[in-house]
Amino acid sequence: MIIDTHSHIYLPEFGEDRNSMLSRAENEGIRLILMPAIDNETHLSMLEIEAQYPGKCLSMMGLHPCSVKEGYEQELKIVKEYFEKRRFVAVGETGLDFYWDRTFTKEQYESFQIQIELAKQYDIPVVIHSRNSIDECIKVIKENQQGNLKGVFHCFSGNEKQAKEIIDLGFYLGIGGVVTFKNSGLDKVMADVDMKNVVLETDAPYLAPVPLRGKRNEPAFIKYVAESLAKLKEVSYDEVVRNTRSNFYKLFTKVPMP
Ligand SMILES: [Zn+2]
Repeated sequence: MIIDTHSHIYLPEFGEDRNSMLSRAENEGIRLILMPAIDNETHLSMLEIEAQYPGKCLSMMGLHPCSVKEGYEQELKIVKEYFEKRRFVAVGETGLDFYWDRTFTKEQYESFQIQIELAKQYDIPVVIHSRNSIDECIKVIKENQQGNLKGVFHCFSGNEKQAKEIIDLGFYLGIGGVVTFKNSGLDKVMADVDMKNVVLETDAPYLAPVPLRGKRNEPAFIKYVAESLAKLKEVSYDEVVRNTRSNFYKLFTKVPMP
């Protein structure tokens, strides 16, 4: 049983073939898919998919750093209201994105901080997006880590030092398609990272792994990520699946084990 811990399967990219896409995932042994929220434009479609596939597709709730712009206060208010209404599997995705735009840097920090506090309040993991901002995100987590904060650096693609810092903070590395990219350097980093700190993800529809790089990504393709990790760590595919699954349940303690 494989868990895709980060998949935007509610996006319109899957509007045409969501059912068959999910049966392809099922056939590859993917039994659980976690859906990270982006903003209020897609919250409802995410919640709809969760209701359609109960126990299989679980929602997070949060505000993506790329959606922190004019009106972000209203977006955060909506996120808080959702948390008052019901449980979610995690807060996210949140974090910092300095790749696209630095106009709202201050607001991104503020939004990240508010969501970290939600994660503490509800005792659930925080799922972090750290594009061009890994060190900055690590610093924020360090300042907030009083022992009870937990979460994932989603789509981790940093260096050895950053991996070690994240693990020392008690956080997990979300590993996806990037590990299969020859030029990423992540293969060398991962060769030295203990598998007990890793969870698997696709970030679908983005970042499809080799040999499907550039195509629309989907949860079924997670097998290429697991295969790649197995090769790097010189362990069996099954061991990667077993390890990452057990890590998942250690981190996402509110998700009932099957
Ligand atoms: Zn994402």
